[in-house]
Amino acid sequence: MNLQTPPPAAANKYARPDSILDMARLERLVLQGFKSFKRKTSIPISPGFSAITGPNGSGKSNIGDAIAFVLGKSSSRALRAKKAEELIFHGSKSKEGAEYAQVVLYFDNSGGAIPLQEKEISIGRRINRNGVSTYRLNGRVVTRQQVVDLLSQAGIHPDGYNMIRQGDVNQLVDMDAVQRRRILDEIAGIKDYDEKREKASKELETVEGKVREAEILLAEKSSVMEKLRAERDAALEHQRLTQELEKVRESLLIKDYTLAKDGLDKAAQEAAAKEAEFKASEAEVARLDKELEAAEQSLTSLTKAVVEASGQLTISKKISSLQAGVEARKMRLAGLDRELERMEGMIERVSRIENRINPSLRGVLQIPGVKGVLADLVVVPQKYRVAVEVGAGGHLRDIVVDTMETAVRCVNFLKQQRLGRARFLPLTKIDPGRKGPLPPRSLGWLSQLVHFDQQYAPAMEFVFGRTAAVDTIETAKEIIRTQRVRMVSLDGDLVEASGAVMGGYYKAPSAGAEMKDSLKEKQQLFAEREALEREIQVLSKELAGLADKEKGTRTFDAEKERVGIDRRLEELRSRRRDGYERRLVLQQELGKLHIQKAKLEARFDNLKMQAPPEGKPPYDLSISALKQREVEAGDRLQQLGPVNMKSLQEFDALMGEFEEFKEKVDQIVAERGAILQSIQAIEGRRLETFNKTMHAVARHFREVYTDVTGGEAELLLENPANVETGLIIRASPPGKRLLSMDNMSGGEKTLTAFAFMFALQKHKPAPFYILDEADATLDRRNSEKVGLLLKKQSKNAQYIIISHNDSVVKEADQIYGVTMADGESKVLGVELPENN
Ligand code: ATP
Ligand code: MG
Repeated sequence: MNLQTPPPAAANKYARPDSILDMARLERLVLQGFKSFKRKTSIPISPGFSAITGPNGSGKSNIGDAIAFVLGKSSSRALRAKKAEELIFHGSKSKEGAEYAQVVLYFDNSGGAIPLQEKEISIGRRINRNGVSTYRLNGRVVTRQQVVDLLSQAGIHPDGYNMIRQGDVNQLVDMDAVQRRRILDEIAGIKDYDEKREKASKELETVEGKVREAEILLAEKSSVMEKLRAERDAALEHQRLTQELEKVRESLLIKDYTLAKDGLDKAAQEAAAKEAEFKASEAEVARLDKELEAAEQSLTSLTKAVVEASGQLTISKKISSLQAGVEARKMRLAGLDRELERMEGMIERVSRIENRINPSLRGVLQIPGVKGVLADLVVVPQKYRVAVEVGAGGHLRDIVVDTMETAVRCVNFLKQQRLGRARFLPLTKIDPGRKGPLPPRSLGWLSQLVHFDQQYAPAMEFVFGRTAAVDTIETAKEIIRTQRVRMVSLDGDLVEASGAVMGGYYKAPSAGAEMKDSLKEKQQLFAEREALEREIQVLSKELAGLADKEKGTRTFDAEKERVGIDRRLEELRSRRRDGYERRLVLQQELGKLHIQKAKLEARFDNLKMQAPPEGKPPYDLSISALKQREVEAGDRLQQLGPVNMKSLQEFDALMGEFEEFKEKVDQIVAERGAILQSIQAIEGRRLETFNKTMHAVARHFREVYTDVTGGEAELLLENPANVETGLIIRASPPGKRLLSMDNMSGGEKTLTAFAFMFALQKHKPAPFYILDEADATLDRRNSEKVGLLLKKQSKNAQYIIISHNDSVVKEADQIYGVTMADGESKVLGVELPENN
């Protein structure tokens, strides 16, 4: 015998025997010292229907108590004893009491329902006067629980509904509905499902605890990761933007460099071309000069010839001399005109304003960002020179610089070197101020009349932008009446917006000594020229008078030739004038080109110093697009603020850990899902099993009730949708309306109880039934019916019936008579009538 490892046949404790042959069968009951049984009494028990009968108080019920006792019933009340010692035979007048009470129940286990290898199994219980119980299984001492557990696997319970104590039969009807439903649970084996579910729920609880813990941790870790991810993203963005910025700047540098180089090449080419054009034009003028000289010479000789040819004629002579005088003057005039043109060219060439900046200040001009002296940056047409010089006031010597910073640097330089003082006009800071409308009769703002590079516009507007040029002070006088504006006349009279007037003779300060001479000479030449023209007019008049008289003479032909040469001379002179004008224009343009080229050279040198990278720019975009990108990337970087570069490594390191943890959490969650699923499956099977049982038992009940009583009855759940609710019995005895259980007679109740018990047995028989005077309230007719039914049912289970009722007893396979003599019970086998 081994309790720990039951044989495989009985390994599944839910596999209850369905056939009567498999069930554990009561074989024999042996009592000693138990209640009224003093001597050792052995009662063999029939496999089918046993009836116990005898007088009141003879000890019949004590036999039932003995079986309950040995099965482990612990409540002394249930065993009808207040104290444990009341179970022990207490003796009588002539007999001594027993020391202990002992009951042994023998089972036939050939069906293997009790999960032990033995074919016969004995369960024993002994109790001594101290109330100490000892259980034995096949003679070996075991605990009560071991006995209870073992028997429960064979469907035998100390509190089973199959053992009905005296007077308790109606209890099946009277008990509350939930208790009654529990009987169904028991025979359906629901308890096993409940245990399984309980176990699963406990597992669920544990896993849910784990899930909660993991989820809290996960949330914490997630938020850490989120923060880190944001930091990492910012760091990545920062990296990207920095690289972008580097590339953009490199591209800009290369672009700038290339552009400057191209510009410089182009400017050099243009300047060279202009130079060539200028040289050609100069050569042309020289060539024309020569031609002109030659023509003049031939004219002189022709005139001489004409004079000589007409020498004999007085008129002719006179005419000749007059003509020679005119020609000589005309020649002189042409010479003067050439001389005047030459001088004008010379004056024009020196017409740029002389900047008389203190030479010691020149060092400042070397400082980067210094653009130059204002006078050097402006080109003034000769016509406006005086007006511009006066209008500029003292600003012509101002030094133009790019920014305020440069200005400060220059001032510090002058201070350190003790060089003197100067005014600086920073282009980015200088405010030209507001100006009113241009007076309608003026020649324009001075700033509109001079030429300068647009980059110097702020400085130029500041100096020239608010002074209008007018022809004379008269005009200024008219204008100032209606408009407060600063004006300067072409000859240097100044009317301030306030109305203050400054003027008189303006002595151009910029004209050098040579210039002064040239101007004086030019004036003399002009005077001479005017005198010559007057003389020519006088002579020509005289000549015209004489010519009328002299018409038709021989000299006419030579004269004609001379006129032809004269015309040619005129033409040559006009061509020379044109050539000369063209040369002037070219000279001006060439000057401009040289300035431009010098500027480009400076810019190119500057870029070269920044060591421009070779090759293709990373971004082949326009300069404006690149600049926009530079600004955008810079803005983004600034918005980004400081970033945590370490987060790049930290994030990668922690992310792996985090993923692993997440996987673990997923596993736990999956585990929970599996448990929930298994709980659902258990619930499902439980419900199915219960419903099957409920359905079958209800059907049996209807049939049995009708069979026993001829009435109608049904079993139903209080709430059919909820298997946890109670089980209600509804019955209408024959010919009666539906009766409430309380209104039924004792016998009617007993019949209902029997019907219920039989219905249960039909669905799942208990191994045995012990009914103590359950038939007590039945009338003869019903007793007979019940007797017959018991006989029928005893084919499927053992029935032990205690009864006074002959009509029941007579159906038994075996009858025992119990008698009492001298306080001690005795059991006698009763011979059965022949019909059994
Ligand atoms: P009824 O037909 O009236 O139900 P019964 O045959 O079932 O009678 P029991 O209840 O089995 O009678 O027996 C009761 C008898 O057992 C009583 O007379 C009582 O004195 C006796 N009895 C109970 N306990 C003891 C005990 N410890 N020692 C001796 N006799 C006892
Ligand atoms: Mg009794």
